[in-house]
Amino acid sequence: MGKRILVTGGAGFLGSHLCERLLQDGHDVICLDNFYTGRKDNIVHLMDHRFFELMRHDVTFPLYVEVDEIYNLACPASPIHYQFDPVQTTKTSVHGAINMLGLAKRTKAKIFQASTSEVYGDPEMHPQTEDYRGNVNPIGPRACYDEGKRCAETLFFDYHRQHRLNIRVARIFNTYGPRMLPNDGRVVSNFIVQALKGRDITIYGKGSQTRSFCYVDDLVDGIIRLMNAPDDVTGPINLGNPVEFTIMDLAKMVIELTGAKSQLVFKPLPEDDPMQRQPNIEKAKKLLGWQPSVALRQGLEKTIAYFESELSKGRF
Ligand code: NAD
Ligand code: UDP
Ligand code: UDP
Repeated sequence: MGKRILVTGGAGFLGSHLCERLLQDGHDVICLDNFYTGRKDNIVHLMDHRFFELMRHDVTFPLYVEVDEIYNLACPASPIHYQFDPVQTTKTSVHGAINMLGLAKRTKAKIFQASTSEVYGDPEMHPQTEDYRGNVNPIGPRACYDEGKRCAETLFFDYHRQHRLNIRVARIFNTYGPRMLPNDGRVVSNFIVQALKGRDITIYGKGSQTRSFCYVDDLVDGIIRLMNAPDDVTGPINLGNPVEFTIMDLAKMVIELTGAKSQLVFKPLPEDDPMQRQPNIEKAKKLLGWQPSVALRQGLEKTIAYFESELSKGRF
């Protein structure tokens, strides 16, 4: 028997893949979004599904629906978008968490929070394990996102301790795939769009900083495993791909896979840009039996194919 599941931020990049997977698994899905960075194009193919429902709503306002599970993903995720209206970003994380936790408390729903590796800030420990407390600048340009997500984690654990809520918190590391926004400034989408348009590839700093990139299907699988794990598995739990690449490696791979003639150009490194990021996923392996299976090259091929098709439709 399918469950009634609310996905906030359901028209976004990760949310749309999650809605798709939950429908495939036979659930009744309410996709909630205020379309700040989400798009109807991401979910238009689900609109005719009889168990899919779209709701335009902002999580900073209370919401009364009856559900069994909540996946709380609403929040802009890329620096360009979360820094555009930083006060709204913090409100979305904090007021949004309070409202969704209030809803979970009233309906006795199990609730998942999409937290982030950004709670570790510019880490002094490498790779990051879940007990690392982070190195976040509380007043910098990334703080609206990082501190908002940290406060949301605090709220989740206080509702768990104080009101016995059944919570799941995942710290998601850089994820990529089809339906990323072409203009959101994230490195994978930037490099692919630049390569497909034959423009210069913009490397910030020397390109020696590292990231670990997880393909979206792997990530969605990890999220669902966490939601379905035994009740004592609250997290926080890292979800990401531990295979680390420099930004220069990524640029070269995108050029190779697209066959682009683009040149590499170097731009200043943004403020508070972490030099290294790699998840330690031992906890996810042990508790969820999960690890990513899609290699960067394979995932990039699928992502490039998506952007090629969008480009051919004149979408960017
Ligand atoms: P996204 O911007 O594509 O999706 C976020 C969605 O939330 C959008 O559809 C947006 O319109 C919606 N939204 C924003 N504010 C809202 C509000 N106040 N009310 C209702 N809806 C609102 O980003 P994404 O990459 O899909 O990220 C989804 C979640 O995962 C976010 O919470 C993000 O912080 C987290 N996350 C993502 C990554 C990643 O690499 N993609 C990494 C770490 C954490
Ligand atoms: N809330 C909601 N939907 C519900 C129940 C609560 O949006 O079904 C909101 C409510 O507006 C409140 C918040 O969630 O501001 C926190 O709810 P909680 O019950 O924890 O706190 P209280 O209502 O006691 O302040
Ligand atoms: N980056 C880059 N060129 C770009 C976009 C990003 O060199 O066109 C770098 C950025 O400085 C960072 C890394 O790529 O070091 C990942 O950036 P992204 O914004 O994708 O994610 P985050 O910094 O949140 O991990």
